[in-house]
Parts: sequence; C-alpha cells; structure tokens
Amino acid sequence: MSNYSVFLPSYSIGDDVYKEIPKICEAYGRKAVVVGGKTAMAKAREALLESVKGSNIEISDFVWFGGDSTYENVEMLKKNPVVANADMIFAVGGGRSVDTSKTMCDQTGQPIFVFPTIASNCAAITETTVIYDSNHVFKELYFPKKPATHCFINTKIIAEAPSNFIWAGIGDALSKEYECTFSSRGDELDHTNLLGVDISRNCVEPLLKYGKKAYEDAKAHRVSEELEQVILNIIITAGLVSVLVINDYNSCLAHSVYYGCTTLEKIEKNHLHGEVVSYGVLVMLTCDKQFKERDRVYSFNKNLGLPTCLADIEVEEKDLDKVLDKAMETGDIKHVPYKITREMIYNSIMDLEKLM
Ligand SMILES: [Zn+2]
Repeated sequence: MSNYSVFLPSYSIGDDVYKEIPKICEAYGRKAVVVGGKTAMAKAREALLESVKGSNIEISDFVWFGGDSTYENVEMLKKNPVVANADMIFAVGGGRSVDTSKTMCDQTGQPIFVFPTIASNCAAITETTVIYDSNHVFKELYFPKKPATHCFINTKIIAEAPSNFIWAGIGDALSKEYECTFSSRGDELDHTNLLGVDISRNCVEPLLKYGKKAYEDAKAHRVSEELEQVILNIIITAGLVSVLVINDYNSCLAHSVYYGCTTLEKIEKNHLHGEVVSYGVLVMLTCDKQFKERDRVYSFNKNLGLPTCLADIEVEEKDLDKVLDKAMETGDIKHVPYKITREMIYNSIMDLEKLM
C-alpha cells in the first residue's frame, strides 16, 4: 500500500478578516514581508498594517513580485535579502503574483499566507501554480508540495476591485462542476478523488442562485451575503476540488475551447479567461447533449452578459479552424468518457449559433 499525505487549504473570510492575522500567523515567527502586485498592495496596505499594530507580527517591507509568474521573478525574489530574511511571506494580489510567491515559498520552505484582492480564480488556495515565460506565454504548471498555510479573504477589498474580475470569476467557476463530473464519469474513484468530485457538485447551484445579485453588488462595490457566497464558490469550492482531484479531472472541454480561442489576438486583448471559459461550458454541455443544463447556463450567461455565441467573444467562423486545431491538441480532453472529435466540437458551436 502507498503512504501519502493530503494538505487541505484553510481560510478565513469576512469584511474585516485581517484582524485574525496575528492570532493565526504568530506561531510562524515575527517578521513578515508582503509580496504582491502594485495595485493589490496599495489596496491592502493600510488594512494589513492596521491589523498587525500592537501584535508580535511586524511587516518589514512591501515588495513588488516582478510583474509575471516566471522562474526569473522567483529567483529575483529569493535574492532579495528582505524577502530571504523574512519568517513568513504575505502574498497579496491576483493569480500571477500569488503564484509567484507560492512557487518561491515552495522552494525556500518559508510559510506563506495568501491575501487575494480579486476573486477571478482559485489560485489563493490551490496547490498548483501557472508559470509563464518572459514573453508572458504559458510555460508550464508547477506543483508545490502543499497549499498556502492560510488564506485571508477580505470581502471588502474584493468588493472594491473592478467588477469584471468577479464576472469572469463566475464564468470560470461555472466550468468546475461540469468538467470534473464529465471527465471522471465512469471511472472507479479512490477516496480523495471521490471527495473532490463530490465537492465539485456544489459549484453550479450557488452561482446560478447568487451570481446576478453578487455581480450587481460588485458593480456597486458593496459587500453582501450573495457576494460572499459567490467569492467562496470561486476561491474555495473550485480550489478544494483542484486540490483533491487528479489533474485529469480539473479541466476539460470548456478549457480546451478557451485555449483554442487564445490563438486569436482579439481574445488575448479584449476578453478575460473566465469569460471565454463560460462560453466553453456551453459548447461542452451541448457536445455532451446535456441540453437542459445547457439551456439553464445559456440564460444565466445572457442575464449576466457572459458570452453565448461566437460574436460575443469576437470569433468569426473563418477563425474556427485555428481554434479547433489548438483545442484538439490540449491535454484537457484526453481523459474523457468517450472520444471527443473535432467535428463534435464544431457541431456544438454551430448548434449554439442557432440558439441566438
Ligand atoms: Zn479556468
């Protein structure tokens, strides 16, 4: 029998949640350095400094992460004496900056605490980081040995961020349940995968129920119960699934469609990851003939201004060859209950066009 460990993420959430920092972080030392994006650090700075006032924790500096999640930036941070001498790292920001600190701390062994300032993905609690090359092109996934020590989700700071992050975050989180249950369908699941797949079944309903109100509140920069539920869904539910299941179950056809679309310049320039993924969800549900679910998500997308047809993401029919070439190459559709052909994806896209 194999011996193995599972490290589950832990987190705190609330509109004044940074006040929990001293209690939770004290056991790990005294000196903390904040590493993050410039905007993110500016937004969180005051609340962070206030939270450690009069405690045993001292924030010794705020350090820019370098602009992208690259091995070069990881090395640059490791060489910074302020960072190297810190007892713990406070990683502040969105996906790329948090991933940079996660990769670095995996290599240095420093405890890392994560402070997401937007809710557009689940990077704050996953065990995976995305690495880019110096031209900002996807390079590879990196797998730290465990997730961050703790994650502090400040709903007030997240509500103050531009609302398109939540909007795209909803689109990305929509994919988790459908992709995970589809790609694991028919498999004999061991304990950890069974837990992960079952958690994924809790992704869609809360989004359909609270998504619209949460997006309205995000636009008005207002913390609400609905916004909190949606933030938890995007960061925690999707993140827990990703920590528990094998990589094969983590993404599927909706993401293949997204990667296909990234071959087009307009997608890279004008559209967000989760936005395009939410269109990919419609393609996937059509392909799998889950028409009832497809129609539910279709109306939801329409209602939220998420895409439902090619024109919404500025893709033209003549671009489809390029999109499908890339989509068919992706590993995301390798582990599926039946073979997904190029024709099946094309027909699903065309079926969606007819729904307009
Ligand atoms: Zn995604």
